[in-house]
Amino acid sequence: MPIATTNPATGQVLKTYDPMSDEQVDAAIERAYLAFRQLHGTTLAERGRWLIAAAELLEAERDETARMMTTEMGKTYAAAKAEVTKCAAACRFYADNAVRMLADEPADAGAVKAKRAFIRYQPIGPVLAVMPWNFPLWQVMRFAAPALMAGNTGLLKHASNVPQTALYLEELFRRAGFPEGAFTTLLVGSDAVDRILSDPRVRAATLTGSEVAGRSIAQIAGRELKKTVLELGGSDPFVVMPSADLDGAAEVATTARCQNNGQSCIAAKRFIIHTDVFDAFAERFAARMAALTVGDPMDDATDVGPLATDRGRAEVHAQVQDAADSGATILCGGELPAGGGWFYPPTVVTDLRPGMRMWAEEVFGPVAGLYRASSYEEAIEIANSTSFGLGSNAWTTDPAEQERFATDLDAGSVFINGMTTSYPELPFGGVKNSGYGRELSAVGMREFCNTKTVWVGEGEATAGAGAHSE
Ligand code: NAP
Repeated sequence: MPIATTNPATGQVLKTYDPMSDEQVDAAIERAYLAFRQLHGTTLAERGRWLIAAAELLEAERDETARMMTTEMGKTYAAAKAEVTKCAAACRFYADNAVRMLADEPADAGAVKAKRAFIRYQPIGPVLAVMPWNFPLWQVMRFAAPALMAGNTGLLKHASNVPQTALYLEELFRRAGFPEGAFTTLLVGSDAVDRILSDPRVRAATLTGSEVAGRSIAQIAGRELKKTVLELGGSDPFVVMPSADLDGAAEVATTARCQNNGQSCIAAKRFIIHTDVFDAFAERFAARMAALTVGDPMDDATDVGPLATDRGRAEVHAQVQDAADSGATILCGGELPAGGGWFYPPTVVTDLRPGMRMWAEEVFGPVAGLYRASSYEEAIEIANSTSFGLGSNAWTTDPAEQERFATDLDAGSVFINGMTTSYPELPFGGVKNSGYGRELSAVGMREFCNTKTVWVGEGEATAGAGAHSE
């Protein structure tokens, strides 16, 4: 894939970049390694000040940065501005909370025959971050803010279609005060990942992206015995039960499916509706989906901009056509629009069956699948029937049912009467083929820390007597 900015609203290539040479990559890894050693001598307070400075820069430069993202990957300008603001908030969150999250945790000294025993969280070194284009600033920030705060350094291999955002991020952290090499963008293709992750100076990797990329990185990391966090695809269920507020559910369902032009890993993708309210929900939902305005992402009146790539749009349309050809019913959308740009209409498909691509695959565009369930048990069965397990949503006002959904949905998160979203305060990640490990909150920050046991004895010859050692 060429490293280039191509405007998805027009298909026009605006800027191309040569990939970095192996020598340039090696030099960047060395700088990241040296910066890690340099960060060792800095305090949390100092790193927190740099993160606050990054937040201030993001806030001051919100509009230009948002315009750059819209031009590179097509999200609406309004959504891009909100993303910049969210990144600034994440920087502030980790600057404000890292002291508490990384504080030494005392253990029961008596139980382990110590004078003192505790857990200390320490950074591990340069971490490779392989990131996707769909939230080009936020996906990186939710790794970078906690990692830098903890004292790690970052090497970013961003998606090849968002090079300007990638370069902006490197500059952002440098201007905020982080030492040279603390956060570096590597303009390379995915074929360079093996060499980078095999370098002994690189200690771990985090990937947000497809299953294919996840398997590839996990294989390399396995061979090299390096830790990975994988945030992969999802086909999140959105269950609606008879007690739900149907207007509220239909409105949130429309946003949950079409936000970011339908290209979100945690977008609700499969709408599983109880038979008693199926027709009433389907009518409300399809009407809202059909009423969305598709068009120029810079226009404030636009709800849904273009898909990020021509290839992505072709894939989405092929999945819809496969369903239609196999007997599914299209309630709205489903037609490739004429004209330039990679636009796709909000689409609702029902009468889906196992064997159709849409039943099992993630659809990365504004296309919703509607499923009918005759009972709670059947709703859970359909919801858990895919290989994914990222987010999940259930709409019910029955407290007992809410409790059951919280337990029974096989996913990294369950949102009741709302839509899945990410917050710096809450862990984020998946189960099954959606990946492993967590980002955000204290849990995410500690993924790239050495959880070190410290045991301090009395200094007598009998210390540790009675214990056995492995
Ligand atoms: P992708 O093709 O996997 O690309 C993501 C990143 O991985 C890019 O930087 C890409 O580089 C790189 N990459 C691709 N193949 C690779 C390989 N074999 N080895 C190493 N690196 C590789 O993903 P995408 O299709 O652009 O993004 C959409 C996918 O990401 C969806 O499945 C979506 O659900 C998932 N996603 C997950 C989350 C989450 O938090 N769980 C969040 C957002 C998106 P190039 O651009 O150079 O190919």
